[in-house]
Amino acid sequence: MDDKFLEPIYLYYTRNRSIKSMMIIQLEILDLPETMRTLESSERKELTRGIVEKLKTIYSPKDIIMCNNMNVLTIVCPLESHEFQEQVERKVRETINKVKGTYLIKETEKLMTLRKPKIGVVTYPSSCMSYVSMKDNLLKARMKARRALQTDIVYYDTIENHNQDIIKYQEILRGIKNKEFKMYFQPQMDIETNEIIGYESLVRWIKDGEVIPPNDFIPFVEENDLIYKLGDYILNEAMQNYSKLPPKSVLSINISAKQFKDKNLLSTIRRKTKKYSLDPSNINIEITETVSMEDVDQTIALLDVLRKEGYKVSIDDFGVGYSSLSYIGNLPITHIKIDKTFIDKYINEDIKNPSTVLIETVVQLAKGLGLKAVIEGVETKEQLDYLRSIGCNEVQGYLISKPIPIEDIEVFKCRHSKEYKIKT
Ligand code: C2E
Ligand code: CA
Ligand code: CA
Repeated sequence: MDDKFLEPIYLYYTRNRSIKSMMIIQLEILDLPETMRTLESSERKELTRGIVEKLKTIYSPKDIIMCNNMNVLTIVCPLESHEFQEQVERKVRETINKVKGTYLIKETEKLMTLRKPKIGVVTYPSSCMSYVSMKDNLLKARMKARRALQTDIVYYDTIENHNQDIIKYQEILRGIKNKEFKMYFQPQMDIETNEIIGYESLVRWIKDGEVIPPNDFIPFVEENDLIYKLGDYILNEAMQNYSKLPPKSVLSINISAKQFKDKNLLSTIRRKTKKYSLDPSNINIEITETVSMEDVDQTIALLDVLRKEGYKVSIDDFGVGYSSLSYIGNLPITHIKIDKTFIDKYINEDIKNPSTVLIETVVQLAKGLGLKAVIEGVETKEQLDYLRSIGCNEVQGYLISKPIPIEDIEVFKCRHSKEYKIKT
């Protein structure tokens, strides 16, 4: 997509008061690349000219036609009145009818036929709130048109998800305001002493009495820029609850990909730490491996500051992203959390598989680098015994406890101390 032109045009029209609305149309001719391949260079030019000539008979001079690449064209139609929308819809239908058909290449007298034009349409302002959402929605509409068998034109407004997305967006905003998001805490155990040394905070959405897990809303929240708001809320809730955890616990907080790139993140973490008078060394910031790899220099700079101020830092979900064992050594971190999928494949100590080999390698690597190796998703006693035998430092998983609300921490602590015979 040639953003160079589309973005300034979009911004110009959306700031122009005489423009009430706008239709952005993307035309893709699915069989054009294949047809082009059969033609000489000068014949290709003539065919392209032929398509544009047809479009010119449909669109007016104030409509802007842009060629993105060989088979995709974007057309921007600014509207001075909502009533003209019908006219544009007529133009869209006409586009399909005209583009579909035969073209005579005069130079060589070849007759070419195009059969598969497809169109995606976005309307401003009803189906896009920003340039980025316009571009995303336009792509979604075009992709849906591309896949559709019965229809050639898809208006983003008519995609079912669109309305549902708006409802979900508003529900989440309301949920934040009404404090419907609640932090649960999952204990982390030192494998040598069996003692609980920390808790990972994991968010839940309590909606109409139902507990909604984070995987059902975090991706949406990330996609729609709500993560800054929810991320702040999570940092606040997690740290506010710290005083209800057993003294000296280390509280782990998950930071999502977009949140990590937010330039206000550091100041927010500092501010909340101060607000609740917490010691940074009792806070463990969890970022995923993929995030840390995206812009290594920027990651190192931010983590360096956090480490210098005393915060702990974990690389989460280790092993599932694109890891490079060598780069881990350059990161200023304290913990490596090996993803649950690896321990899931453990059968017994004598049967080695790639997953257990990776666990053992990473535990050794962590040891060499002076880091703590943590395994999450430990569900059985056999897994725990194995992890102990290979020198893993900390574990987390249903075997010890599921994530629990803050009110249940005391009961859990008592039960755990008895079960593991720990003096309290
Ligand atoms: P994660 O950070 O890898 O969190 C670990 C997930 O594994 C949690 O799922 C936890 O409940 C689950 N788990 C732990 N032990 C076991 C076990 O023994 N068996 C099984 N089957 N599962 C286990 P949860 O709470 O559903 O969270 C899923 C993901 O959502 C998290 O993965 C994290 O990426 C994200 N998430 C959760 N809370 C937050 C948050 O506050 N902020 C952000 N940015 N992301 C969060
Ligand atoms: Ca985590
Ligand atoms: Ca994880």
